[in-house]
Amino acid sequence: MSTAPLDILALAAHRDDVEQTCGGTLLKMAQRGYRTGILDLTQGELGTRGSAEDRAREAAEAAKILCASWRQVLDIPDGRVENTFENRLKVVRVLREQRPRVVILPYWKGRHPDHYTASMLGYEACFLAGLARLDVKRAFSTQHSGLSREGAHSTTGAFLPHRPFKIVYATLYYDVRPTFVVDITEQFESRLQALMAYKSQFSDQEAGKGIFPAHAEIRSRIEAMARFYGMLAGVTYAEPFLQKEVGLVDDLTAIPVKSI
Ligand SMILES: [Zn+2]
Repeated sequence: MSTAPLDILALAAHRDDVEQTCGGTLLKMAQRGYRTGILDLTQGELGTRGSAEDRAREAAEAAKILCASWRQVLDIPDGRVENTFENRLKVVRVLREQRPRVVILPYWKGRHPDHYTASMLGYEACFLAGLARLDVKRAFSTQHSGLSREGAHSTTGAFLPHRPFKIVYATLYYDVRPTFVVDITEQFESRLQALMAYKSQFSDQEAGKGIFPAHAEIRSRIEAMARFYGMLAGVTYAEPFLQKEVGLVDDLTAIPVKSI
């Protein structure tokens, strides 16, 4: 595994969330030469279709399609993403190890509790990761409530404090006006392929037929969303994001997106 820091890390509750909300953006950044990574908080053991092992294989395949340099999954229970100190520490360890400049988090409101909790958990972990006097290894050993052997082992490396420079929120799952969109017109087909790599989820089959739309329907939904956000900025396909900070402008003549 390479020890070079990541430029961009996308964090999400479930495998396939990143593919749906910011996969095109991650691919575009990778194509520009940035090192991108994906941290999934849960392994998907509660999924209606396929096992956690299927999901692991599919996630690796999707990461390859998105040209991600790094992907890892934590051991937080599916359907029970909780913003506890212990879970924050697990994310802090990854942030200190991978040292991303930009972190993409899920938006902080939504239908699925795992999604909005992952947002808060991710934000608070970004803050904690920068605290010089927070010793993750020590904090883990004083917590040790139900931590897996794997999780405990991976805290043995000592990593320096690190706080990401920028946090942006991927808003695709929630109806909120984004503060900016990323043009993914050239990445759209690959991003769709990355999602379709989750064959246990998205291929047409009997299990869960009532809750999972057919393949063709998924394609047209994803296309409609990408087109909608693209239209807001005058491009074909885009992914929506929100930042809490204001935008900083140096040259008024260089601001993109036509007003009238
Ligand atoms: Zn999800």
